[in-house]
Amino acid sequence: MSMQSTIDFGTSQMERQICPNCSGIGMSSFYSIQQIPVHSCLLVPSQEEALSFPTGDLKLAFCPGCGFVANTLFDSSRHNYSSRYEESQGFSACFNAFQDRLIRRLVEQYDIRDKDVLEIGCGKGEFLMRL
Ligand SMILES: [Zn+2]
Repeated sequence: MSMQSTIDFGTSQMERQICPNCSGIGMSSFYSIQQIPVHSCLLVPSQEEALSFPTGDLKLAFCPGCGFVANTLFDSSRHNYSSRYEESQGFSACFNAFQDRLIRRLVEQYDIRDKDVLEIGCGKGEFLMRL
């Protein structure tokens, strides 16, 4: 199975989009992608189930009133937060090695020392703490 995703970094004003944080209107979208897994942290028992996992679209938008960033296409009915949900990957030596390489690359390539970094969907903030 191949996964086809379309990514769009274009910005657009969403005149009627209501901010879920402050109820202000006029959020501005800045990133969208289609057909991505609706969960990235749900443990599944087989590769087959992982590859056939439900997908959905994502559109991130920024509220100019309060600064909140939200997925304006979020559909809570498609999510299953249960005992199978595990967001932490810090127990994996393989993941930690990957994360350390990523951090080195980000620090060297983007010179992010003494700068503010925003991680969207940061879970428990383990990556940011390590960064
Ligand atoms: Zn807002």
